[in-house]
Amino acid sequence: MAQLKLKDINKVYDNGFHAVYDFNMDIKQGEFIVFVGPSGCGKSTTLRMIAGLEDITEGELYIKEELVNQKSPRDRGVAMVFQTYALYPNMTVYENMAFGLTLKGLNEDIIEARVKKTAKILGLCDYLERLPRELSGGQRQRVAVGRAIIRKVEVFLMDEPLSNLDAKQRVTMRSELIQIHRRVGATTIYVTHDQTEAMTMADRIVIMKDGYVQQIGKPYDLYFNPANQFVAGFIGEPPMNFIECFNKGDNIVFKDASDVSLNYANSFAEVKNKSQGKDLIFGFRPENAHLIDISKPMPENGYIVDVDVELTEMLGDTVNVYLNIGEHKVIVKSTIYDIPNIGDKRKIFIPYEGVYFFDEAEGFTYPREAK
Ligand code: ATP
Repeated sequence: MAQLKLKDINKVYDNGFHAVYDFNMDIKQGEFIVFVGPSGCGKSTTLRMIAGLEDITEGELYIKEELVNQKSPRDRGVAMVFQTYALYPNMTVYENMAFGLTLKGLNEDIIEARVKKTAKILGLCDYLERLPRELSGGQRQRVAVGRAIIRKVEVFLMDEPLSNLDAKQRVTMRSELIQIHRRVGATTIYVTHDQTEAMTMADRIVIMKDGYVQQIGKPYDLYFNPANQFVAGFIGEPPMNFIECFNKGDNIVFKDASDVSLNYANSFAEVKNKSQGKDLIFGFRPENAHLIDISKPMPENGYIVDVDVELTEMLGDTVNVYLNIGEHKVIVKSTIYDIPNIGDKRKIFIPYEGVYFFDEAEGFTYPREAK
């Protein structure tokens, strides 16, 4: 049984702007779902419709098989954590966390026990008497989460909860939130524009663009089997390299790099047949390709392409190497043991298994044959 069911959900704002189109999804109890996509793609709007803070223009929302379109936020059994934390500045941490329970008229002893238990989960026991302004960003964030989990709701909705934290705090809070989720076990829907957060936190990711869901899947699936070029380019850092090309008989010809013509490998027979005479996008991830040493035997089962080195970026553990293939710019990862000089002429190896083909116009990834 799905705990949450979104059926053909659409949102048209009062000004006529269609922000979300035909959103369909079943979410199971206890899942950690991340909505991700660029600014304006409709992820917050969808979250707010689930929370009941925005009307659903069309479609049905079920929570535990009950249609809740018309239910008030309070009666939906959901708790929301906002980007801004929305803590009461004049209340202590204890009072902030207790507030919802006090409103409900719960007995003081019960409230105290629940606040203490929640504070323990969140590592806030030493801060209960402090005001929000006396806390760090990460601690404030934990209070905001505490205020949500203390209500013992079954669904948490979080809208960019880590965006006010610095990079280091974000990494810490990311793992804390996952641990809290494991302990509490509540279904969570988490909105972010950060693909790293999505990849590291989600059981399943929903990736959106311009109001449309592009793909729903486990992080592994989105990374290895992206549904289209947008998903392939959004997931992964640095992003996947794309080269415009066209299908010419047995060859893949790179546009604006007239001497680059690659043979279709066996595993691309279907791409070759389906894309005859068409434009294609050739894609590969920076981490899948590598510079080769021409004094050694050439690697097999992949493409070898001439490149000019434009720039290197030393990251410590790895090096990003920016390269030109004719007019095309690509990035590959290298190691600290092979940092080329700017202007060097080198070759890169792109293994067949790391190559993707996209139909940009139709918006899909060509399937490959099983190896
Ligand atoms: P961000 O990461 O920037 O918050 P988002 O993906 O969460 O982006 P939404 O806030 O859901 O995006 O907004 C989706 C689209 O709907 C945007 O183009 C936005 O301008 C528009 N929008 C949001 N609220 C309203 C409103 N009240 N009236 C009209 N349009 C709105």
